[in-house]
Amino acid sequence: MGFSHYRTQAVVLASQDRGEADRIFHLYTKDFGKLRAWAISERKITSKLRGGLEPWGHSEVEFIEGRNRKIIVDTASLHRYQAIRNNIEKIRCAGRVVSALDSLCKEEIPEQHIWFFLLHVLQILDTEEREQWDFELVYFYFLWNIFSLLGYQPFLEACKNCKRAVDLEKTYFFFSEGGILCRDCTKKKNIARALSQKIAIELSPFLLQTMRALTNQKMGENNLNAISMASQERSLLEELSSRYTAQLSVYSYES
Ligand SMILES: [Zn+2]
Repeated sequence: MGFSHYRTQAVVLASQDRGEADRIFHLYTKDFGKLRAWAISERKITSKLRGGLEPWGHSEVEFIEGRNRKIIVDTASLHRYQAIRNNIEKIRCAGRVVSALDSLCKEEIPEQHIWFFLLHVLQILDTEEREQWDFELVYFYFLWNIFSLLGYQPFLEACKNCKRAVDLEKTYFFFSEGGILCRDCTKKKNIARALSQKIAIELSPFLLQTMRALTNQKMGENNLNAISMASQERSLLEELSSRYTAQLSVYSYES
């Protein structure tokens, strides 16, 4: 009775220790989307799998499909992203990138746009000349484009409900709608209650424009460096991002 062998490229999203020396890896793979696979005895000093799979490293992986789990039989590191490993801000950003992807993707749905966008963002971080970049913004750029690639592109160009242009003064993003509403449509909602129940969030004109820029895939990463955010806007964007992520997460950390 033979096992099916598979070979693909992967980026490590997460790993957890199991038992004496095993480890489970969450991988984003080029050919199979997100996978969970076991590395038996990987934590033993003698394991030939050691070092082949590092946090957010790009590797080649060979695995077999066992009866009820996938077992990694061979790995080879293709790209360690050394310039990321030398910078604590970049390490933090790469960690957030892979952990967001892990929580947003269901297993075994191959999606090559996501695979290539992940490599693209790791490459942005790995570029030496970008030591002074705002890496939080790189993370938000990744996150909001991943929402779009997963089919949850936020509706930011006009009112989600009536499709009319919004008056920039005061716009509210409604999580239930996945987009913004104009002043008239907002009036039909109980906005005070929506804000207190955290099902809506107020966007300043600046934040709305920043969101539009971040989700515009034609923008390219070089314009990221032109965005300068105040700390208040930054914490609102953080809140907006984490609530949108929680709503779409495949794991239920939050009730
Ligand atoms: Zn409207």
